[in-house]
Order: sequence, then C-alpha cells, then structure tokens
Amino acid sequence: MTLDLLGDRLRSELSGRVERDFPLRRLTTYRLGGPAAIYVEPADEGDIELLGAALRSVGEVQTLPLGRGSNLVVSDDGFPGLVLRLGAQWSWIRAEEGVSQVRAGAATPLPQLANWTARRGLAGAEFMIAIPGSVGGAVRMNAGAHGGDVSKVLAGARIFNLDRLEVENRGVGQLDYSYRSSNLSERDVVLDASFAFDAEDAAEVRNRMESFRAHRAETQPGATQNAGSVFKNPPGESAGRLVEAAGLKGFSVGGASVSQLHANFFMARDGATAQDVYDLVHEVRARVGRAAGIELEPEIRFIGSFRQTSTR
Ligand SMILES: Cc1cc2nc3c(=O)[nH]c(=O)nc-3n(C[C@H](O)[C@H](O)[C@H](O)COP(=O)(O)OP(=O)(O)OC[C@H]3O[C@@H](n4cnc5c(N)ncnc54)[C@H](O)[C@@H]3O)c2cc1C
Repeated sequence: MTLDLLGDRLRSELSGRVERDFPLRRLTTYRLGGPAAIYVEPADEGDIELLGAALRSVGEVQTLPLGRGSNLVVSDDGFPGLVLRLGAQWSWIRAEEGVSQVRAGAATPLPQLANWTARRGLAGAEFMIAIPGSVGGAVRMNAGAHGGDVSKVLAGARIFNLDRLEVENRGVGQLDYSYRSSNLSERDVVLDASFAFDAEDAAEVRNRMESFRAHRAETQPGATQNAGSVFKNPPGESAGRLVEAAGLKGFSVGGASVSQLHANFFMARDGATAQDVYDLVHEVRARVGRAAGIELEPEIRFIGSFRQTSTR
C-alpha cells in the first residue's frame, strides 16, 4: 500500500522515469536477480529533492542508490524498496580550480575518468582503468587497485541525504574511509565528486595505466557475470590465495563457480540464480574458515533477502 502510494506520487511529481516492479538484472554485471518494487531515474536534482520529500511523507521505505551494479548481487526476489539510479545527466567530467582539480558526476564510468585524466597528464586515477563501476559507487565503496584507492585522490563529494533532504558537501576527511569502506549509507546519494590529482608527464601516466590494464586482462575475468573481488583481503593476506589454497578453484554451487583464472572472482553461468552465488560465497567462506582459520569478509553486497543455507 505504501509503495503504491509512493509510486503514484512520484509518477505525478517527478519529471524523470518512475517504474514499478522494474527488472534490475540488466543493470548489474552479474545479470542476476529480480525487480525493484520502485525504480526511479531522476531528471535533475529537483527530482531528487521531491523524491526525498515523498519518501519522508510515506514513512519507512528501503532505498538503494544504484551505480553500474558492478559490486552487487540482487536477490532473485528483487528489492522490496526504491532503487534510485542517476542517468547520463550525471555522467560528465570537468577541470576545476587550476589544472589538477577535477570534478566528475556520480554516473561517470571510472575508466572514462582514468582516460580523461591520463590524456591531460594528471596522475592518480590510473587504478580506475579496469574497474567497471561509477564515480558514485567508487566513492561509497572506496574502490581501489594497484595500491591506489579513492580516498587517496578524492577531495570531497556532493551528497544528497534522503533523510535530511539537503545537499551536503563532505570533504574526504568526513567520509571515514578505510579499506573498501566509507561512512555513507543507503540514504546518501553521491551527486558528484571532486578529485585532486598530481601533474605528471602524460606518456608516463598512460604507460602506467596501460600496464595496469594489461595486468588485469591477464589475471582476472572481465566484467561479465561477476562482481569483481568477492571477499576483502584480510590484513597481510590475499583472499584469492586463501580460496585457492583451500582447493576451491573451480568449485561450484548450482550455476555459480569460483573462477579458474582468479579464485576471488565467482562467476555465474547462464541459468544461475542469485541464491547460487550467495550459497557459493557462504560455502567458500566456511571452507576457508575451516582450512585457514580466517573469517573472510564479503566485499560484494547482497541486496534484498536470501535464504540462509547450512554449510556442508
Ligand atoms: C570485473 C570487475 C573488476 C572489479 N575490480 C575492482 C577493483 O579492482 N577494485 C575495487 O574496489 N572494485 C572492483 N570491482 C567492484 C566494483 O566495480 C566497485 O566496487 C565499484 O566502485 C562499484 O561501482 P558501481 O557504480 O558499480 O556501484 P554499484 O555496484 O551499483 O553499488 C555499490 C555500492 O555503491 C552504492 N552506490 C552506487 N552509486 C551510488 C551513488 N551515486 N551514491 C551513493 N551510493 C552509491 C550502492 O548503493 C552500493 O552500496 C570490480 C568489479 C568487476 C565486475
């Protein structure tokens, strides 16, 4: 009932796209999962404000800002709340305040930001070249690779908070960053972010970026039917090494299996379910726990509800 009221109100008030029971599968790299009860692509910031006000008036409705869906597994039953996805209006990059400060919209693909800065002799975003996420998702997740991460190059972000109904400018020091983690919640919508890069010879930056790209192509599967690293690396350890050492390369549950190329990537075959991925993650976690005495912590996020299964 609440969702019906909310859906109707959003349809009448927003200029952007509002859908009910909208399939999310194609909006994630895993290509799995069910629909969002309500799906919104706002037309502009005004729409986001209206959305926040409507959410406040109807009471408790779960929300999920969605980027490029490259770090998510959506439940086969879908997401029983509202998914908010920023579209092409939020995909832009511009130079700001001198040569090395750059601002990018939240929907900008990370490889685009890496290429744009490399061309201009700005160093610091090369690690983004093979991460198939958006600026918004990366700010939330503190995405990183090759020794770099967002917290090292971010100056700050503009964020719309769906509870306080206001745009907040948060500096990097206010985001409480640690390894693949920030203090942002599902009520914080990153609108855009500003980065401080170092000026360097453009050829050097490009060479470094190309070597990262080549290394990734050799050692990891591409962005189809997986969501990158499943587990965070424990301090001083590699999650992939632990999974491999437990003899689990190629291990599968239903249509989901541990990649033969990189043991911290779990692939979904055609016909796999999101529950298969969930079960595989839990089974691998239990087996690595028994083999190595280390509790791996998932880096990928499970959205919606999953059945708890007992480990074998
Ligand atoms: C092949 C492959 C390789 C990968 N390699 C890496 C890697 O090297 N390093 C790494 O860190 N990650 C890696 N990832 C994971 C993923 O790409 C990153 O976590 C990325 O930052 C997620 O961005 P996204 O836009 O896809 O976010 P989504 O997956 O859509 O969402 C992830 C989280 O961010 C939130 N979010 C998304 N957009 C916004 C927004 N505008 N405002 C607020 N919150 C938002 C979501 O609510 C969710 O909590 C890889 C994934 C794949 C498939």
